[in-house]
Amino acid sequence: MRTKLQFAANTLMAGFAALARLLYATKGRDFCRNQTGVDADHARAIKVARTYTVEEAANTLGVSVGTIRSWVKSGLPLMRSQRPFLILGDALRNFLENRAQASKVPLLENQLYCLTCKAGSTPMGLLVDCIPQTSKTARLLGLCEVCSGTCNRMISRSKIDHFSQVFCVAIKEGQQA
Ligand SMILES: [Zn+2]
Repeated sequence: MRTKLQFAANTLMAGFAALARLLYATKGRDFCRNQTGVDADHARAIKVARTYTVEEAANTLGVSVGTIRSWVKSGLPLMRSQRPFLILGDALRNFLENRAQASKVPLLENQLYCLTCKAGSTPMGLLVDCIPQTSKTARLLGLCEVCSGTCNRMISRSKIDHFSQVFCVAIKEGQQA
């Protein structure tokens, strides 16, 4: 009788421990989420050699289809030559890495982040296109002074006036959504 009770108690405790671990693991994942809302484990699940539909990419990364679409608008390449449209795993991995990297690099006021140099750079002629992304954010787009590659910077829309004093900004309202 005593052993049976003991066994039941042990089983119960093991159950609690498993539950606690599960809760902890779930909570821990949130801390790992980076700026794109994708945690590192999910990003590593992207295979560079395969292609993904928008839905497959969303499932693999644990984000919504709408999130993937917003990434396409902000520069994630989408192959539109056939349906369904496809995303190269390689391009998706690069996009996520660039975003993670860009969020770590402190930029000077007159700099954008260059995807090629992987560093802050001044846009050529201080010429910058401003493309609204969401109701609150916009993307500044220019050409890197060093390598002529694309450089960009996400800003709050409320800062557009401020950056207009730093750069020569052309607002491209039409390109949103
Ligand atoms: Zn560059």
